[in-house]
Amino acid sequence: MGSFLNVVIHRLPVMLDRQWRAQAEEMLAPGEAGAASRNSTGTAAREQRYNLVVPRSACPHCGAEIKAHQNIPVLSYLLLGGKCANCKARISPRYPIVELGTAVLSAAVVWRYGWEWQSAAALVFTWALVALTVIDLDHQVLPDIITLPLMWLGLLLSLAWQPGPALSIPVDPWSAIIGAAAGYLSLWLVYWSFKLLTGKKGMGYGDFKLFAAFGAWMGWQMLPLVILLSAFTGAVVGIVLIALRGRDRNIPIPFGPYLAAAGWIALMWGPQIVGGYLHFSGLDR
Ligand SMILES: [Zn+2]
Repeated sequence: MGSFLNVVIHRLPVMLDRQWRAQAEEMLAPGEAGAASRNSTGTAAREQRYNLVVPRSACPHCGAEIKAHQNIPVLSYLLLGGKCANCKARISPRYPIVELGTAVLSAAVVWRYGWEWQSAAALVFTWALVALTVIDLDHQVLPDIITLPLMWLGLLLSLAWQPGPALSIPVDPWSAIIGAAAGYLSLWLVYWSFKLLTGKKGMGYGDFKLFAAFGAWMGWQMLPLVILLSAFTGAVVGIVLIALRGRDRNIPIPFGPYLAAAGWIALMWGPQIVGGYLHFSGLDR
């Protein structure tokens, strides 16, 4: 799965970029784009084919296809010494890191949720967060094609809710529906208040949609915890970056990764953290 997520992280932004370009060209010069593609030969059409399955993985440096035995997660990277077998170009350590990270997070989810169907749902949630995190770090975008289906899935899962032990998912449909709406609207309000006050964009619409997905999966009750955790870690990392690297305060830092990390913590221990806080503060009495 980590290996597949690497493909998604690398190719999805390219696919979306091509799609947007094609749509923009069609919009600016209707008919011409279509005529051009009709005239193009079969080879050109085949060269254009680019999705999560084709073409086969290749070295971005020399274009050599990666053979099956060179495509084993983590192991192949170690065996090849982090270099392309053909041209010896360095392979980014990000690939084994994503693979290893996905493995560790997945194991933690199964350990937490046990041999239940909720485990499968929590895994899907986790994998979506891994892909979103790295794509946001690379491109400052959280693609709709991941965030929106994630939200719908959370809403549908709430239909399977039954009273039981305090796991984070699923929640009852009331909490899920209110959660999705509250998640989107709360960040939308923050965005517009910040923009009207400062004239700057504090975050992107993708952040609202991801937060809405969290509301759908874990209910509105979990949203304050997620926003506190992500704002806190985001602020700490931001301050450290500014202090250490002298990073310009106006250079945007993507918010998605912090949101995703906080959402994952809520998935794992949300009810316990919230319950502990309420107990500690005496609010549960
Ligand atoms: Zn190569």
